[in-house]
Amino acid sequence: MKRPTILVLGAGYGGLTTTVNLQKMLSGEQAEIILVNKNDYHYETTWLHEVGAGTIAPDAARYPIAKVINNNVRFVQASVEGIDVNERKVQTTAGEMTYDYLVLGLGFEGETFGIPGLDKYALSLANLNAARQIREHIEYQFASWSLDEVKDDSKLTIVVGGAGFTGIELLGELGNRVPELCKEFDIPQEKVRILCVEAAPMVLPGFDPELVEYAKTQLAKKGVEFSIGTPVVEATEEGVKIKKGEDEFEFVKAGTVIWAAGVRGNKLVETSGIESNRARIAVRKDMRAPGFDDVFVVGDCAFLLNEEAGRPYPPTAQIAMQQAVTIAKNIKHLMADEDTEEFVYDDKGAVCSLGHDDAIADAIGRKMAGKKASALKKIVDNRALYLVGGVGLTVKKGKFKFI
Ligand code: FAD
Repeated sequence: MKRPTILVLGAGYGGLTTTVNLQKMLSGEQAEIILVNKNDYHYETTWLHEVGAGTIAPDAARYPIAKVINNNVRFVQASVEGIDVNERKVQTTAGEMTYDYLVLGLGFEGETFGIPGLDKYALSLANLNAARQIREHIEYQFASWSLDEVKDDSKLTIVVGGAGFTGIELLGELGNRVPELCKEFDIPQEKVRILCVEAAPMVLPGFDPELVEYAKTQLAKKGVEFSIGTPVVEATEEGVKIKKGEDEFEFVKAGTVIWAAGVRGNKLVETSGIESNRARIAVRKDMRAPGFDDVFVVGDCAFLLNEEAGRPYPPTAQIAMQQAVTIAKNIKHLMADEDTEEFVYDDKGAVCSLGHDDAIADAIGRKMAGKKASALKKIVDNRALYLVGGVGLTVKKGKFKFI
């Protein structure tokens, strides 16, 4: 009998964790495992705010996929261009592929909510190269300000749209990086403006209010200004228009605009033949797509309701990696004609960094702020490396500067 083909799309937290679990559970005779990813490396999406601000080098946040897969897996470096689950076919830049089991883990895209100009003029942390672009764009703006005879200080204004997890983590890193950049480019620091604009009435919704206050105070000390409850309504080449009141608008001229205010699933999901909302598929309890017994969805492309809380689980690396373990087990169950398992989320809490030396944490049953929380954040980052690549990868790529 022909061995089944398991096709995993995307080598992010979800896809790569599924693959390394499958390679441990199944031999080459039992299944053909194919992993398709745009790049021949995996990047740590949860570190992209550091790459974007320039506090770590892009290379620090990535490693070759070949380092963590074995001979049971065939890796294909290609871009997925189309998915047709009715025909069991996937179009890629390396040709058409078919499968017996599909794992869809193509990650997220920025959600701009139809706000005019954001797609064109705002930068984003969508992937490693997008983060690198932010770093280089800010450096370019600072360098040109230094060289300009007639100085336009708005070149030194950085607007971050969104005061959720990603926006706050980015602001923390910018708070550390800006003083370094000012030294490098001979810029008086008071000329630089870092402005966070948020439509919702609060910062970090869902986080403990005391910790949120701490985060705001710490970021304010690093020079971050907040404009909360004031939506961005338009972005232009010159900056952003912000709604300040019923008929009140302010235009902020800015050399850099970064949009970190929302994500949706990968757009390829929308043409796959599976029902989705904002490119996220409401999966069944065993992580399979509704109506398709051979299709699993992992990570940011999956939508899963937290029934107790009555709202969806937020898209995180933590949940993606846990889902991946269940998916690998369930593929093995299906191959053996066994019942599948339900995915049960073990919420370990959240840690939000405020730069390399500060953070807030509501995790492992404790609330923490400052250096302890920051050390915990590094442990969380190292744990993700360990779960995929063991001790070797953790030692090579991990974060061990705890103070
Ligand atoms: P990803 O990890 O994004 O991987 C998707 C993969 O698919 C990538 O390798 C990509 O190259 C590949 N791909 C995409 N399109 C194609 C294509 N067409 N063809 C081939 N390959 C393709 N979560 C936490 O739990 N804790 C945190 O502290 C945290 N911090 C974050 C900080 C930032 C700055 C950001 C942006 C996110 C953060 N998150 C955090 C959220 C977390 O990173 C995501 O939820 C997680 O990455 C989702 O995993 P995934 O496997 O679905 O997608």
